[in-house]
Amino acid sequence: MEKTKKYILSENQIPEQWYNIQADMPNAMLPPLHPGTKQPIGPADLAPLFPMELIKQEVSKERWIDIPEEVRDVYKLWRPSPLFRATNFEKLLDTPAKIYYKYEGVSPAGSHKPNTAVPQAYYNKMEGVKKIATETGAGQWGSALSFACNHFGIDLEVYMVKVSYEQKPYRKFMMNTWGANVYSSPTNRTESGRKVLADDPNSPGSLGIAISEAVERAATSTDTKYSLGSVLNHVLMHQTVIGLESIKQMELAGDFPDIVIGCFGGGSNFAGISFPFLGLNFREGKKVRCIAAEPSSCPKLTKGEFRYDFGDTVGLTPLIPMYTLGHTFMPAPIHAGGLRYHGAGAIVSQLLKDKLIEAQSFHQIECFDAGVKFARSEGIIPAPESNHAIACAVKEALKAKAEGTPKTILFNLSGHGNFDMSAYDAYFSGKLVEHHLTEQELHADLEMLETPVIA
Ligand SMILES: *Cc1c(COP(=O)(O)O)cnc(C)c1O
Repeated sequence: MEKTKKYILSENQIPEQWYNIQADMPNAMLPPLHPGTKQPIGPADLAPLFPMELIKQEVSKERWIDIPEEVRDVYKLWRPSPLFRATNFEKLLDTPAKIYYKYEGVSPAGSHKPNTAVPQAYYNKMEGVKKIATETGAGQWGSALSFACNHFGIDLEVYMVKVSYEQKPYRKFMMNTWGANVYSSPTNRTESGRKVLADDPNSPGSLGIAISEAVERAATSTDTKYSLGSVLNHVLMHQTVIGLESIKQMELAGDFPDIVIGCFGGGSNFAGISFPFLGLNFREGKKVRCIAAEPSSCPKLTKGEFRYDFGDTVGLTPLIPMYTLGHTFMPAPIHAGGLRYHGAGAIVSQLLKDKLIEAQSFHQIECFDAGVKFARSEGIIPAPESNHAIACAVKEALKAKAEGTPKTILFNLSGHGNFDMSAYDAYFSGKLVEHHLTEQELHADLEMLETPVIA
């Protein structure tokens, strides 16, 4: 197949390159800072944690980066993922809007996360790494990386947020099936975990705490590297296979979206579906609205502040310029575990600051309302995280109806909810609570930050 400058799909429609939005962003991000010296960090600072190839991708300004053949071979197990028009859902909503969704639940782990887990495991393998430590919230990332590490023969240690470890034992068994060791975080295995437990022996854990534990393991052992499932630039870039495929698939459908939606935890599935479309906005003057849908109980994009903050709770990671609620913010134990994160990736934060993307927040009950409507019309039971994207699609579809403007909406169905049935049970039995953040809860952790708000 002839190579074009745009991007390349092979005969079986899997992209041959990832799209790096850093090449096209109008304003570059501020540099990440060393947590100790507060000076911009260089590749050497990240070398203990990540293989060099991923560090290069993190700072690359190349627009297209080749996907290694070994990675594409694994992608072939489930990619290209399907893109559907949700005609039954449209009927149910009685909307003139056309609603399409890209379905990432067809991967072995059931979400978009293997799109980056596979290349991350691959580059670690290439550089001789024997063991990886990581964190997981709802268990989606842990299972994706377990699958990938198993494929490339790397040992994996997973720090799983305690509330999910208890709510979602099947995710743990899934990780065990792919050969990983899973620990309920906070643990006694690390300094970071012991510190949290000393303050609160009943801590439900958080992604931030689990990240601290995994980073500490990698930083303090010579044979172990660290791997992150969201937030970082290279992770977001790996996910662009979602949007690149979607552009081609929408073309096949003879359509193009006015609105692209992804739910938002740290930004990876939102980036995956939206960045290739944003690239068209930047390079070809298209006007696609890209909307990130986040939980009202963890509203960093809609209510947080743009300032330098740590990626983890304890403060071991570099300081990243991001929208944040403060790294010590403890989100309510909502069922969308993958969205319980205090901050956002640097790229999405810069894009939001520059008003090139939008953000909206949704309460968990309206998300389950939307998710159940979707399941009853389209069949697939969505992950609680994905329900936020669906709630946003519903809102935009009903707005289109009220305004009488037929819009074309594309959302990313980031995963299935087959391991989240206890969350659906809580919804059906009326046990789901709406968590309304008070001003006090919203500001307490931001006030503790030493870094100023960036104008
Ligand atoms: C992890 C996860 C998310 C949230 O993470 P992002 O990095 O923001 O994409 C959303 N949906 C599913 C199904 C997930 O597993």
